[in-house]
Amino acid sequence: MEKAEMTGRRFGMLTVISRVPYTQAVRSWKCLCDCGNEVIVSQDDLFWGSASNCGCKRDDDPGFRLEGNKYGRLTVIREVDPIFSPEETLESVWLCRCKCGRKVVVPRNKLLSGDTLSCGCTDTPDSSSSNQEMV
Ligand SMILES: [Zn+2]
Ligand SMILES: [Zn+2]
Repeated sequence: MEKAEMTGRRFGMLTVISRVPYTQAVRSWKCLCDCGNEVIVSQDDLFWGSASNCGCKRDDDPGFRLEGNKYGRLTVIREVDPIFSPEETLESVWLCRCKCGRKVVVPRNKLLSGDTLSCGCTDTPDSSSSNQEMV
């Protein structure tokens, strides 16, 4: 695969800008997302379609990142160490900051399902912000 063939090519919302020097075993490319973010994506991910944007567009990919996403009153800060759910499965959990200023750790599925929309400071979810951006 020649550099010239990749540069400028589009994969979903990503446009390949330049080749990334070897950081790992995989060949990676710097891409510009339509949203303006730059991301480093492995060539395999581009070709297999598992990376079609910088992460700004949510889909059902279990590996996608939640940082900066808003769910009700919560804004996701970062992922923390996984915990065991009541079903004994390892759950992805995320540190979030509530509008009231408190920080809470919330399982990913509670965020995505809309079950948890605040630190508990209110029972009335902020209806003005949708958590279902299926863009
Ligand atoms: Zn993007
Ligand atoms: Zn709160």
